Amino acid sequence: MSEQKIPYKIYLEESEMPKYWYNVRADMKTKPAPLLNPGTLEPMKPEELAGVFCDELIQQELDNDTREYPIPQEILDFYKMYRPSPLVRAYCLEELLQTPAKIYYKYEGNNTSGSHKLNSAIAQAYYAKKQGLKGVTTETGAGQWGTALSMACSYFGLDCKVYMVKVSYEQKPFRREVMRVYGASVTPSPSDTTEVGRKILAAHPGTTGSLGCAISEAVEVAVSNPGYRYVLGSVLNQVLLHQSVIGMETKIALDKYHIKPDIIIGCAGGGSNLGGLISPFMGEKLRGEADYRIIAVEPASCPSFTRGVYAYDFCDTGMVCPLAKMYTLGSDFIPAPNHAGGLRYHGMSPILSQLYDDGLMEAVSVPQTAVFEAAEKFARIEGILPAPESSHAIKVAIDEAMRCKETGEEKTIVFGLTGTGYFDLVAYEKFHNGQMDDYVPTDEELAKFRANLPKVR
Ligand SMILES: *Cc1c(COP(=O)(O)O)cnc(C)c1O
Repeated sequence: MSEQKIPYKIYLEESEMPKYWYNVRADMKTKPAPLLNPGTLEPMKPEELAGVFCDELIQQELDNDTREYPIPQEILDFYKMYRPSPLVRAYCLEELLQTPAKIYYKYEGNNTSGSHKLNSAIAQAYYAKKQGLKGVTTETGAGQWGTALSMACSYFGLDCKVYMVKVSYEQKPFRREVMRVYGASVTPSPSDTTEVGRKILAAHPGTTGSLGCAISEAVEVAVSNPGYRYVLGSVLNQVLLHQSVIGMETKIALDKYHIKPDIIIGCAGGGSNLGGLISPFMGEKLRGEADYRIIAVEPASCPSFTRGVYAYDFCDTGMVCPLAKMYTLGSDFIPAPNHAGGLRYHGMSPILSQLYDDGLMEAVSVPQTAVFEAAEKFARIEGILPAPESSHAIKVAIDEAMRCKETGEEKTIVFGLTGTGYFDLVAYEKFHNGQMDDYVPTDEELAKFRANLPKVR
């Protein structure tokens, strides 16, 4: 097929949309390490998780073997309202960069929640409803997950209680209001509404909060209120499973034009968009059918992959959740107030952690100002105002395209553009006013948090 025939946007018909989620664990030779009970250090049994999570989601969480999960019709129907998301050929960016590289991006920002998080929110709300629950609790950092979950809960008629990291609650009043439009209650975290919140406030007065604190509060509320369960927007295996819809659509679209990517790039906070985007490609790589370079991009201020350790750690600051083996900075790591709120988590998906440890993917970290420079370059030529999180992937996609320019290689680059930046204009304002700093934690600081990792074996 000649170059000109590839359209700016590759569409999928409704009939071409993925009918199942792909579980990459089925093809992993080394499975991700199991969640451990923090008391006994034994693998968590489904019944121990049942007070915290919805039953079917627990089954998905622990299932390392089933390759394909048919997407329930109710979820497919909701997906049809805002999916497929566009796969765009960045012709204009290529022209600007004068690169021989071919650049594609998968844009997940075209729904009201503004990010890919809705793909898993609707699935999790569906299973909660199916189980006959009253509602769900969760935490949100930058606000995208809380917004997505509020939308999903209102669609299925579930109550939704969101604990929002305090710094975001104050910096992003508009996100908070969107959640309230969809009927959610939103509490800044740490708060005095929970025991763990009161404890954290007493230990760190004036703290602006962290995802880890907010998770502890949301879990406490779920386990102490009958008919409620806790849901999480990233990190967990089930979330990567739901997000595989991103990768499935991307692969179906590329296959239509016989396009094989050389490099796949995504930003990584807890790893869900990247895990979802790469899943079917990683599956081919694991089965020895194809090879791809896969790059995770994280902020230099919160470098879980590039400077963390692969160890069992708590998923939350309050140490109420199971232990997960992951690349981590330590569960009490509170990053500098980086403006990519969705990338501020101390740990990383256990699936991606294992793949990274096995050398099947790479990771790089990038400083904040360079990310915003790339974001603006992209916005001015491709039109879309990107989320700061997504812009980490833009930055590295541009770097790779420039490398192709030096070597003359015509590589095909695909990156995940996870969301819109409409609610991040305070961050863009700081960038324009030269008030953005590129704080990077020192080795001494990181060692201090690492020293507090739980001792497992
Ligand atoms: C939450 C979020 C991320 C990071 O989360 P992952 O689980 O790593 O995907 C990235 N981009 C946007 C827009 C987000 O909302």
